[in-house]
Amino acid sequence: MTQPYIALDFPNIRTAEAFIDLFPKNTLLALKIGMELFYHSGSDWVRYLASQGHEVFLDLKLHDIPNTVEHAMYVLAQTGASMVNVHAQGGLRMMQQARRGLEQGASAAGLAVPKLIAVTQLTSTAQDEMQEQQGVYESLENNVRRLAYYTQQAGLDGVVCSAHEAPIMNELGLISVCPGIRRSGDESSDQRRIATPKQARMLGATHIVVGRSITQAADPVEAYYDILAQWKGTKNTWNIKSPSYY
Ligand code: C5P
Repeated sequence: MTQPYIALDFPNIRTAEAFIDLFPKNTLLALKIGMELFYHSGSDWVRYLASQGHEVFLDLKLHDIPNTVEHAMYVLAQTGASMVNVHAQGGLRMMQQARRGLEQGASAAGLAVPKLIAVTQLTSTAQDEMQEQQGVYESLENNVRRLAYYTQQAGLDGVVCSAHEAPIMNELGLISVCPGIRRSGDESSDQRRIATPKQARMLGATHIVVGRSITQAADPVEAYYDILAQWKGTKNTWNIKSPSYY
């Protein structure tokens, strides 16, 4: 079972590193870097984190004409990130060219090709918003299914989706990277299609992404290990009095 990706939604490297430093020395984490931190810190820091052994999911959700996305992916493949993404709404050709750029960039740098996944509908989007504002009148589930089908046809590895949509992705043979994860009792904030780590596991999600439930917790390290245990279905062995993880 994969480690939860921690969404490092911090404004700069200083605050992000202060967060990473809360964990015992040499703890290897799966980290999701989004637009805020990437635009602030650039690709050198991503290279640094990857060189330290952390797994980096670069969540930049590219969405542009196919040629532009292909060239951008060529560059991102050289950062050492192990996962990157696009918006499936960019279409089949854009996703195919994204894959080509990624493969060529990784090959030029002698690196493994990062996994490429697509966002179908953001987990912050509710069905009525999609219908009114995007003019898409099918159900949210059908729309997610449609976009996932084209993601699969384009040869991508999987999708970013709500855990509730993980069964559809399993049917299509796609990995499902699921944000919108909350422990029971946590604020849902702007997320609409949420699930607990346990629900995500039961629904067959292959990866989860957790931000505020960890980063805004009173004790982020305790929250991380609690979520890890719920996700894996194991006992939480994090000892608060004498911090250690077995
Ligand atoms: O704080 P929270 O757990 O809601 O953070 C979720 C993270 O996952 C954020 O960084 C957000 O940008 C990202 N994300 C998402 N929904 C998607 C794709 C990415 O919430 N469909």
